Amino acid sequence: MVLVSERVGQVFVGGWRLELTEYGSGERWVVLLHGQLMPRRMHEPLARALAAAGNHVVTLDLLGHGRSDRPDDPLLYSMTAFAEQVVAVLDDLGAEQAVVGGTSLGANVALETAVLAPERVRALLVEMPVLDNALDACLVAFSPLMFAARYAPLSVDLVRRAIGLVPRRLVPFWGGIVLDTLSQRPGPMAATMHGLLFGRIAPPAHVRETLEMPALVVGHPHDPIHPAADAAMLAEELPGSRFVASRSILEWRFAPERLDTVAAEFCDELAEADRIITLLTRRHGVVRAVGRGVRRTSSKFGSRLEPFTHVDLQLAEGRKGLDTITQAVTLEPYGARITADYDCYTNASVMLETAERLVAEEREPSVQQYLLLVGALRAMTDGTRGAGDVRDSFLLRSLAVAGYAPSFAACARCGVVGAHRAFHPAHGGMLCADCKIPGSASPADATVTHLGALLAGEWDVVGQADDRTRREAATLVSAYLSWHLERALRSMPLVPR
Ligand SMILES: [Zn+2]
Repeated sequence: MVLVSERVGQVFVGGWRLELTEYGSGERWVVLLHGQLMPRRMHEPLARALAAAGNHVVTLDLLGHGRSDRPDDPLLYSMTAFAEQVVAVLDDLGAEQAVVGGTSLGANVALETAVLAPERVRALLVEMPVLDNALDACLVAFSPLMFAARYAPLSVDLVRRAIGLVPRRLVPFWGGIVLDTLSQRPGPMAATMHGLLFGRIAPPAHVRETLEMPALVVGHPHDPIHPAADAAMLAEELPGSRFVASRSILEWRFAPERLDTVAAEFCDELAEADRIITLLTRRHGVVRAVGRGVRRTSSKFGSRLEPFTHVDLQLAEGRKGLDTITQAVTLEPYGARITADYDCYTNASVMLETAERLVAEEREPSVQQYLLLVGALRAMTDGTRGAGDVRDSFLLRSLAVAGYAPSFAACARCGVVGAHRAFHPAHGGMLCADCKIPGSASPADATVTHLGALLAGEWDVVGQADDRTRREAATLVSAYLSWHLERALRSMPLVPR
C-alpha cells in the first residue's frame, strides 16, 4: 500500500471560493478536472494512482460544481472562465507548469487552458473531449436538463432533497458521485448550463492545431455525447499527441488499472524528457532554463539545444527562478561541427566548462565572456586556427576578463618589465629574479612570448610557435586556470596532448 498525503484547500478567484484537493507533493504537477455537474471527487482514484507514481496532483471543483461556490448568474460560466480558474489555481499553488487533464467538460477546459496559457500547460491528458461531432448530442442531452432547472425547479429540488436522505456511508464510491451529480440546486445548475451552451464549447479546430504540448487523448466507442471520433480527431489535430481507446466509458471508473498505468507512464515520460540547460547569454550572464521534452527524438528543439550551439532563445519567466525555453532558433550550429572532430570537441568542452565556472553568479551580466566564447567557437570551427591555440587564448583572456589577468611581460609581484625566467600560477604569472619563489616553473623564452601572444590575440605570432612551445604553454595555462578555479576542470584531462 502506497500512502500519499492529501489536503483540502481553497482558492479565491474573482471573489468566488473554489475548493480543491492536493494529493502528493513535488514539482510534477497534474491538475484533473471533472465532468459537467460532477464533483472533483470523481477523479479521486486516478489522483491517488498518479500521486503514488510521484506526481503532485490537484483536483479542482470548478465554479458552480462540487463544494465550490455556485452563483446563479449565467454570465459567470463559460469554458474560458473555467480555464482562467485553472490558471489562477496554478498561480496560487506556485505551480509553474502542470499537466492539465480532465474528463468531458474537464477535457474541454483543459484545452481552453492550453490555449489561454500554453506556457503553463506541460501536457494535456484529456478523456472524452466534446468537439464538433458531439454538438447535436450535447444540445439534445443538456437542453432538457436546463429546461427542467429553469422551468420545473421543484423537480430538481425534490431530487436533491431525496438524495440528501441517502446515507453516503452505505453507497459505493461511484454511487456517491452519481448522487452528488444529481444533487443540484436549480438556479446555479441552469446558470452553468446556460452559460456553457451560449459560450464556445471548445477552442476551434484551427486553434487546437496550434497546441504543441504533448497530449494523451482517451476516447470511448458507443457514446453519443463523447464520440470516439472527437477524441481521435483531436489526437490527429494535436501535433504531439497519442490516442488511447478505452473499452467503454466505464473502464476508467470500474477497472481503472490499465488506463491509470497509461496515464502514470505518460507523466513519467514527460518528467524524463525535461532537461535543465545552462546558457551563457549576452545580456543576462549564465541562465539555467528548462527545455521541455528535449530528450524526446520528436522534440522540435532538441538539436538546437545541444552544447556549443549558438541560439536565439525565447524564455518564459518561471516562478521559482527557473525559466522555460519556449522558442529556439539556431544562429550558428557550431555543435554539429565541433562534435564531429574529437580534438575540437574536447577543447571546446574545456572552454564551456571554464565559462560556466568563471561566470559563477547566475544572471550577472557578462557580455565580455559571452563575446569571447562566441568568438572562440567561431575561430575553432572555421578551421583557420588550431583548436589548442584557440582554447589557450580563450582561457587566458576569459581569466583576464574575470579579474585574473596573468602577467607575462612584467614581474607579477614587483612590476619590473623584462625577460623573466620564473612562472608561478599562484603569484599571477612571471616573476623576476628577486621575486622568484621556490616551486616556480622555468619556461623557455619562446613559451613566454607565445603565452603573451595568446593573451593579446596576436595570431601571427601565435602561428609561428613550434609544437614543443605549444605544449609547454598549454601546461602553464592549465596550471594557471586550475589555481584560479580552485577546482580542476572535469573536461581538461580529456584533451589529447
Ligand atoms: Zn619582481
